[in-house]
Amino acid sequence: MQQIYTYGQYLKDKFGSKVYKVGINISGFTCPNIDGTVAKGGCTFCENDSFSASTNQVQELKGFHLNLNSITNPYLDKQLQQLSLQFDAISKRQKQEYGAQKFIVYFQSFTNTYAPFETLKALYEKALSFPDVVGLSIGTRSDSITDETLSYLAELAKQHEIWIEFGIQSVYNATLEKINRGHDAANVKEWIIKSKQAGLNVCGHLIFGLPGENTTMMLETAKQAYEWGIDSVKYHPLYVVKRTALANEFTRGEFTPISEEEYLNVLMQAIKMKPQSVSVQRVTAGINNDSLLAPAWCRDKNTQIKNINKAFSPLGFKY
Ligand code: SF4
Repeated sequence: MQQIYTYGQYLKDKFGSKVYKVGINISGFTCPNIDGTVAKGGCTFCENDSFSASTNQVQELKGFHLNLNSITNPYLDKQLQQLSLQFDAISKRQKQEYGAQKFIVYFQSFTNTYAPFETLKALYEKALSFPDVVGLSIGTRSDSITDETLSYLAELAKQHEIWIEFGIQSVYNATLEKINRGHDAANVKEWIIKSKQAGLNVCGHLIFGLPGENTTMMLETAKQAYEWGIDSVKYHPLYVVKRTALANEFTRGEFTPISEEEYLNVLMQAIKMKPQSVSVQRVTAGINNDSLLAPAWCRDKNTQIKNINKAFSPLGFKY
């Protein structure tokens, strides 16, 4: 049985031991698709509590939000403090539970390049100064990163492991409009290519089961993402969380979530056509609490992984 090339394996090969991602959620960060700069309300599936890092420190600066044009940031010290507190708490737990020795600080929630350059620089440098941190992973949108930030990250990448994670979701503009994404496919393509040219590592997020998409379209998205040069991929099924625009569409009968069977089928094919060098960071997603509205199969991660491995088995793969 051939093990699928995972991101964990990539890091282990590079750093000689397992590297743990420490998910960070800094208050004051938002998203141009939520604050009205690009759109209001965000992507139709986005309810940010559903993917926030598990900490309540972030409520501290409620109501304060940065953007690319913010002139000052009176809360930078507080944000740096939050970063330290979260890193200490999470890395300590990972050390105790798994014997973790090396870490990547993952700026996870919202849009983590959507702030004045000096703020980003201070946060990234602080994160890199923590003991046993080998690099950063920065989750963002392709319409929210400046050339200045990209050049700065390219400099950091000469000494550290620097990743940018872009939400690609779909290469079809009609789909991106339906989910209120706020940017088109050409924009993601442009910034992935620029990031690669700058020497950064890029992870692309893909969603299968977006409204109006069939298997052929989902696979076309995967194919183009590979062609743009992503180094790593996260595959997600689209699931419906309460208190989102998608939840309203689902309740009105306007959106049918992808079935597990269809998801497994598209995932298999997407992995079969993936270049071997592209590492896999995630093969599914879900949420095991009351906020999940549908589909039910996205509730239990262990069962999902078991079913994925069952489906992989005839192909000779395991995850
Ligand atoms: S880009 Fe991310 S944070 Fe912004 S609305 Fe979409 S899912 Fe939410």
